[in-house]
Amino acid sequence: MQQKDSFRHKGLRNRLVQELMQKRIVDRHVLEAIGKVPRHLFLESSFINFAYQDKAFPIGAGQTISQPYTVALQSQLLEVEPGEKVLEVGTGSGYQAAVLIEMGVKLFSIERQSELYQRSTRLLRELGYQGRFFLGDGYEGLEAQAPFDKIIVTAGAPFIPRKLLTQIKIGGIMVIPLGDKKQVLTRITRLDDDEFEQEQIEECAFVPMLNGIV
Ligand code: SAH
Repeated sequence: MQQKDSFRHKGLRNRLVQELMQKRIVDRHVLEAIGKVPRHLFLESSFINFAYQDKAFPIGAGQTISQPYTVALQSQLLEVEPGEKVLEVGTGSGYQAAVLIEMGVKLFSIERQSELYQRSTRLLRELGYQGRFFLGDGYEGLEAQAPFDKIIVTAGAPFIPRKLLTQIKIGGIMVIPLGDKKQVLTRITRLDDDEFEQEQIEECAFVPMLNGIV
């Protein structure tokens, strides 16, 4: 894996940021984070030349690194503030995690595939991104660390995982793609103990959220 960042990569990132602005990503903190995180290091080497196109790519183990637009949109919908506790379901390549850490949150992330878990935690450590990473089943959330200000699910969930709902702080937000083959990106705000508000944002396509650890 290429471990260098260069002026060329920085230039490509600036172009990507411009493209995201045209696609109506307006949160300055999200755009700044995307301008900083070296996305090319999160892809398999054969895809390095494509790292700053606004596309999803395979990362091995049948999984994909989300499209930059999707990462940006989900991050924007979370409305994170520095210091907030955020739970991510689906560490995958670690790219979304790096963007959120760059935005100053205390990140907790769960991945169910050991191969990806090992690869992404090592990379994030090498790049100096500090968070807490768990091999586990995202349907369970992280009971011991709950509640969270924000929860971001980066795999398509066939239904709203009940345990995740209970791990959102009152006033907190969960952003989750809901549906089987295609999903609708949905924002859920916890208004009170048993009161939730749901907003459907737009259609999207994620790899499925599956059960158990492999
Ligand atoms: N956030 C990632 C996106 C990876 S794709 C990135 O920036 O690259 C979705 C990831 O969710 C995959 O790595 C998949 O293995 C993982 N996943 C699917 N179901 C899961 C579950 N129940 N618990 C934890 N991770 C899950």
